[in-house]
Amino acid sequence: MKKCHRCGSRETIRYWHNDYDNKRNWIGHLCYNCKLDVEKEKTRKIKEKILNEKKDKKIKCVKCGNDIDIDDNKYNYYDDNGVWDKKSKMCDKCYVKDWYKETKSDALKYDTRIRKDEIYIRDFNSLTKNEIGLIIEVVVCKTLMVKHRNIESNNFRSGGADTLRHPMYGYIEVKSSSFDIERNLWHNAIENENFDTLMFVCMDMYNPWKNIERFYTIPYSELSNQVSISISKNGKKWERFRTEIVYFNNNYHGLVSYFKNRPFNIDNIKKWLND
Ligand SMILES: [Zn+2]
Ligand SMILES: [Zn+2]
Repeated sequence: MKKCHRCGSRETIRYWHNDYDNKRNWIGHLCYNCKLDVEKEKTRKIKEKILNEKKDKKIKCVKCGNDIDIDDNKYNYYDDNGVWDKKSKMCDKCYVKDWYKETKSDALKYDTRIRKDEIYIRDFNSLTKNEIGLIIEVVVCKTLMVKHRNIESNNFRSGGADTLRHPMYGYIEVKSSSFDIERNLWHNAIENENFDTLMFVCMDMYNPWKNIERFYTIPYSELSNQVSISISKNGKKWERFRTEIVYFNNNYHGLVSYFKNRPFNIDNIKKWLND
């Protein structure tokens, strides 16, 4: 008979969970309550780590040198090769200023990378913003059964708002964001204004992402003049635009496993979309 190795209980709610040590060795069964405690403890440790790191160093914008307040929006700074060193940040203003220039060179870069089979989803840290954006767009395309203009035309040199078009949602702008555990929210800039519907895809805090946590389908009219969007985990403001995530998540997981050992290139994306 199974027994929880932490509290000794011989009962659990619904089913038994497995517990592992730091080296991923199985160390025993966990009851539902202990599993809950273990998960809470993990989250607490991650939060603590982030807070400590924050105490150690003030964040400065790498572009203008101004201090970035903890509560300000900040953006990862990608160098000329489209690589983020995992620490450099930019303030709101510098981000928007840089956006057009950066996006253009980033687009040229991934147009080349995708053709040379250089994009691998498993190397999440090596992906540029555009590449991460494309992954999420492809998931949206599959789930909503819409075509992706750049994939169809075999050309990634131009972005623009007419990339995805849906009979009901019109032109779709897809934005994704990692969960910001410090501020308990998801955030991203909205640079474009020529779209009908924003699909805001809220991911978890892991790297690489494990799950889509929330999905919002927001008409452009609700966003007029906003240059960014923030959705707080506990807020109610955007609740009515929240969409069921099961199908999106199934496709996200499907994509991650399909591309585990395959390059993320146009042929493979097409195959996956038609699968
Ligand atoms: Zn237990
Ligand atoms: Zn700045």
